[in-house]
Amino acid sequence: MASEVTSISENIKVISEKIRQAELKSGRKAGSVKLLAVSKFHPSDAVLEAVKSGQFLFGENRVQEASEKFPDIIEKNPEVKVHLIGQLQTNKVKNAVKIADTIQSLDRMDLVLEIEKQAAKIDKMISVLFELHTGEESKSGFSSVEEIRQVLDYISKGNAPHLVPKGFMTMAPFTDDENLIRKSFVSLRECAKTLQKEFPAFDLSELSMGMSGDFEIAIEEGSTMVRVGTAIFGERQY
Ligand SMILES: *Cc1c(COP(=O)(O)O)cnc(C)c1O
Repeated sequence: MASEVTSISENIKVISEKIRQAELKSGRKAGSVKLLAVSKFHPSDAVLEAVKSGQFLFGENRVQEASEKFPDIIEKNPEVKVHLIGQLQTNKVKNAVKIADTIQSLDRMDLVLEIEKQAAKIDKMISVLFELHTGEESKSGFSSVEEIRQVLDYISKGNAPHLVPKGFMTMAPFTDDENLIRKSFVSLRECAKTLQKEFPAFDLSELSMGMSGDFEIAIEEGSTMVRVGTAIFGERQY
């Protein structure tokens, strides 16, 4: 491979093609799966290289890192959107709502209250995905459909008017066992199906599932957004 920077656009091309193939293979509509480029631990230059090749959706885990990297990039490229995908501490929400278009890692009621409070202050609508815990290894996410149901019920009563529920997110377990990975994605899809029926006033169609190692399986199981870091930007230096 050439330098990391020159390979990013190439990697995006390759991943996009694999997404297209997976869409075809599973009878999904072409273009129905979005690519979120996970740029955590990679510098602004890497993000800009991706932007140059037409990538506008980026995922970050940490609020501080996103807040340092993205304001300049967004100022010059207003179509760029940041999704926060890492566990979010309550005291980081104030800065999170400033930088984020979407918070994918909504995992508790406390967070709903704080996002509403901070988003109201700056008069900004924040899209949210409910993170469901579906794999043993990851610790984040709501632990049951029932917990998400309660939060949706609360929001549906007009209690958090600055939050826009858009769907669901999960992380599959870190394993080579394809059956376990698939099971995790299926349980997110089932959760979405159940709750969409109960809350028809919301469009809960976004299913954020699949990473570098498992995005093709996720697409077969109904993913509408894959979160790909390593396969685009290379290994992270923690
Ligand atoms: C880091 C991260 C990703 C990207 O993982 P890769 O394996 O590098 O593609 C996706 N989702 C979440 C929640 C992450 O924390």
